[in-house]
Amino acid sequence: MALLIDIKQSDWMTDEQLCDELLSIYPSGDIRCSQSPGNLDDIEMLVVSLYFEGEALRYPNLKLIQKVGAGVESIIADLSIPESVQVTRLRSDVPAVEMAEYCLAAVFQEQRHFRLHRDNQLTATWQPMEPKESSKTLVVILGLGLIGCIVANRFLANQFKVAGWSRSSKQLEGVQCYSGMDQLPELLAQADYVISILPSTPETLGLFDRRRFSEMKPSAVFINVGRGDLVNEGDLVQALDNGALSHAILDVMQVEPLPKSSPLWRHAGVTITPHVSGWHLGDAIYDIAENFKRLERRQSLLHLVNRQLGY
Ligand code: NDP
Repeated sequence: MALLIDIKQSDWMTDEQLCDELLSIYPSGDIRCSQSPGNLDDIEMLVVSLYFEGEALRYPNLKLIQKVGAGVESIIADLSIPESVQVTRLRSDVPAVEMAEYCLAAVFQEQRHFRLHRDNQLTATWQPMEPKESSKTLVVILGLGLIGCIVANRFLANQFKVAGWSRSSKQLEGVQCYSGMDQLPELLAQADYVISILPSTPETLGLFDRRRFSEMKPSAVFINVGRGDLVNEGDLVQALDNGALSHAILDVMQVEPLPKSSPLWRHAGVTITPHVSGWHLGDAIYDIAENFKRLERRQSLLHLVNRQLGY
């Protein structure tokens, strides 16, 4: 029984790096890299970051696909994966805290008008602007999962007003909680910042379109660190052009890397980062080794994905 690492994202992490780390935790494990997989019949656990349709079928005895990261949409979308193959993801505070830092940085630079001050600097213009006050600012967080809750708490700790939205109803101290599609327009209408940390599922696909942007305040800023396919990018550009919202800060796009031809690159109302808001795995690396051991012992796995719900 072997674990095969096939990350396919060497600008972030190589197979060999992950292999070395896993072997240091589980030295006797049969852990292999995609460059030398050996007999494919041995592979029962596949570890991926990017996943391509049909990939699972290469391994006749595959039992588990472990995603290195949180988003599993490409795996869920592959209907050729047998029902018997389980899917697990990572859940770690480390990237969640990094994402919270990213969101705080994005919001604070808007609160303090850094973009405008920078523009003024280019024309040697001295123009004081009143900072926005955190205690009078409502941050709306879409997705109150592991990451959303950590982000919410970081904003609360910085004296912001915080509201959140999820599929099922929730109670979180200090956070006004909303759930379900019916409650979304009311929430968007109040938001100074809308931060999406939603997974990609059939329900969230294209959710942020012309209608949603028109429900937001013209002064609102939209931040997306969840998944790019939440957003109809053409509608976003139009909404920014029409003044339906003030700015968008995007860490994730419909297509990554964002094609050079995309108007998002050059739009003055858009700030782009290349999917970097959550980076380090932290202790989650131990969960990959633990899942391999549990699979060997036929025990229940950590952080199983609900293939029906898609996250
Ligand atoms: P969780 O599975 O813990 O939480 C997902 C949240 O989204 C839950 O609160 C869930 O609601 C909510 N949700 C799902 N579907 C809907 C819906 N249709 N309507 C309303 N709410 C919905 O995930 P994480 O917090 O760990 O991660 C969230 C996403 O962040 C990942 O799926 C991934 O795509 C993205 N991500 C991006 C990274 C980056 O670097 N940019 C890094 C890591 C993750 P409920 O609680 O009711 O189930």
